[in-house]
Order: sequence, then C-alpha cells, then structure tokens
Amino acid sequence: MQLRASCTVRLLLRARASHAFARCQHSNSSRSSTCASSSRITSPLQFRTVLSPPFRTPEALRGLSTSSRRNVPWLPIMAIVSRKAFRLVAALAGGLIRRWYKGLPQDKRGLFVALYRKHKNIILAVVASLFSLLVVFYASHIERTPVTGRLRFITVTHAQLEKIAGFELEQHLALHSRHLLPDRDRRVVMVRRALAKLISGNKDFPHINDHEWKVLVVDDHTVSNAFVLPTGHIFFFTGMLDTLENEEQLGIVLSHEMAHTLLGHGLENMSYTKFLDWIQIVVLAAIWTILPSDGIAFVTTWFYNLCQQTVLDLPFSRKLEIEADAVGLQIAAKACFDVRESYAYWIGMHVHEKANEQKPVPSIFSTHPDHGDRAERLKSLIDSAVELRTLCNCPPLDLRKDPIKRADSMKIHMHQQLALQGKV
Ligand SMILES: [Zn+2]
Repeated sequence: MQLRASCTVRLLLRARASHAFARCQHSNSSRSSTCASSSRITSPLQFRTVLSPPFRTPEALRGLSTSSRRNVPWLPIMAIVSRKAFRLVAALAGGLIRRWYKGLPQDKRGLFVALYRKHKNIILAVVASLFSLLVVFYASHIERTPVTGRLRFITVTHAQLEKIAGFELEQHLALHSRHLLPDRDRRVVMVRRALAKLISGNKDFPHINDHEWKVLVVDDHTVSNAFVLPTGHIFFFTGMLDTLENEEQLGIVLSHEMAHTLLGHGLENMSYTKFLDWIQIVVLAAIWTILPSDGIAFVTTWFYNLCQQTVLDLPFSRKLEIEADAVGLQIAAKACFDVRESYAYWIGMHVHEKANEQKPVPSIFSTHPDHGDRAERLKSLIDSAVELRTLCNCPPLDLRKDPIKRADSMKIHMHQQLALQGKV
C-alpha cells in the first residue's frame, strides 16, 4: 500500500459496507492534519458528571430510536395526506368505473368485450410499452451511493431536496423552539464538541463541506431520539442523552446520523417514495376496477399494502439503517472514537429491552434492525474500524477496559437472570 500523509476516502464499488470505506494513510513520521486528535476525548467519568444521572433509565430507553420519524412537522404530514388522497381518488375512480360498467345493459357490455377482443393485441402492446418505459425510466435513474457504491434509484435532484429540507428545518425549529437548549448549556457544548471532532476527523469525506453541520439539543427527556435532516442539522433529544453511557457512545450515535446525510439517504428515500406512490395509484385503480365487489377490493388493498410494507418499505428502511451504522462506524473511527462502544451501546439497549420484558417489534415489521442484530453486525465491523483508527494515528485503545467484554458480561448476566426466573 502506498503511504500518504493524509486521510483519504476510497470509493467502493460494492455494496459491502463491511469494508472500510476510508483509509487513513500516514507517513511514518507525521500525524495527518485531517485525522482527529484524541486529546479532547472526555473520559466516561467526566461524561457522567456532565450528564444528569441516572443513565439508561427505563423511561429513557422506552421507545428509543435513532432517525425516528417522530415529531414530524406539518410539511411531511401534508405530503402523507396528499399521498393518501391520491390513493383514495384512484380507488374511488376504480370503484366508480366498475359500478358504471356493471350498470350497463348486457348488450352494451358485450360491445366493450367485443372491442377488447378485437383490439386485444394493441391493448397488450400498449401495456407492454408502458411497462417497458417504466423499466427504462427506472434503469436510467440508477446511481451509485457515495462511499459504499451500492446501486440505488434517484429521481429527486439536490436542488429539490435542499428546498424541501430547508422548509422542513424551519418547521422543526418552530416546533422545538421553546425546548431548544441554549448554546452555553453544558449538554449542548458536549454534543457539539463530539460533532466537531467527527467533522475534523472526516474532512476528506466526499461532500462533507456541502452541509451546514449543526446539532440542536431539545430538552425533552421523554423522547429517546436523534434525527438528522439533509441540511446537516441534527436534532438530539435529552432523552437520547439519557440512554448513553459515555461520550464515545455519543460519537457513535452522531456518526450514524452524519452517515445518513453524507450517503444521501434523504434523496433516496424521497425518490423511492415518489416512485412507489405512482405505482400504487395504478395498482389501486386496477384493483378497484377489476375486482367484482368493494369488499373484495378492500381486503385486496389491505393485503397489498401489508405486502408492500413488509416486502419493500420496511426492508428498504432497515437497509439504510444498516448502511448508516456501517459507514457511521468508519466516520467514528476516523475521528478516534472508541468504536468498540458501538457494540456495547446496542448490547446495552438489547439487555435493557430483555430485562424489562419489553416485547420488541419483530424486525420484519420494524423500520430499524433489532438491537441485538445491530450489535452483532457492528461487532463484525469493529476489527476493520479499529484498523482504520490505527491508520488515522489515533491513540491506542485501552485494552484493560474493553467495552466488548463489558457488554458480553452484561449479556451473560442477563441470560443467567432470565434462566433463574425460568424465562429462557
Ligand atoms: Zn438511522
């Protein structure tokens, strides 16, 4: 490997995000200026003095989610309402056409059947052409995801996204304005320090300077959530801070949010939603036109929506989360965070969930991967992240305090407790 005195990002033309996307390459002598120094790492003890204990309270952990869709302002609500309205109109129109056709006298219906038989080949050719156009349209809008190289469908332009994201930001700011912590608040200082460290360690990330990175802390302990907008604004709720054990875990959560924006998940999400909306309108119109009664059409629509959600929408959402976890880990590694804490964090969440007998939503019905699966997936990436961290000239990790061992013993203890209670 050729050594260079800078952290560089290597594009991968494979979807395997488990490969390190970035390589901090260094000379034997000097530390790269773009690799973050670890001098600002706050020890867990310091962290605990900054945050208000207790950590990981049941209240904090209940309903935890990163990049959740909670607290949605009215613009997305309007978009959802208009989408539902379009679908409703398609179903109503289909139903009206069916009733109109059924109400025709037998001889007039026969005319339509005869017309269909006469022009059957033309009709099928038109349908096939429209389908081919759809395939061509889809294929001509395939792009590669930055860094991971995964192929994806994009129709929304950056300008369109910026416009919508800017408006969404205004809505979120208005919604949370009364609960935003001031800049001088120690929690804001701490979160912004972690964000600055991540940015500093990832200056070579493609388009990182295209975003206006800013973290806003919302004082609401009932919301265990953090989410990012395509503008780079991260909304971090104090309820989310309560779920963290130390500043290393804060870096892991923030890097996950940064990854969503840097990978253009907003663009992808909007493109996917728009495309499926149009398909759904056509499918609904067909269901309500062709099927013999409103009852059968209603049940078929319900089944179609369920299938779309479980087969397309939720796996799509989980795929983006998994990708953000993997790339976020690399971002955290380049900024010299202790990447082993990613495993510890999600094991902690998993253990808490089990210990409190919270019944998690099965992965297949969730927008996010299961906590335990998330932890194991991140664990499989930690070796390459530690290697990247070393290449970035980060200080060596403390092997005496291994978060992986800490998390594993927590997990063993949980299993023992559950076994004693006869729950496993
Ligand atoms: Zn996320």
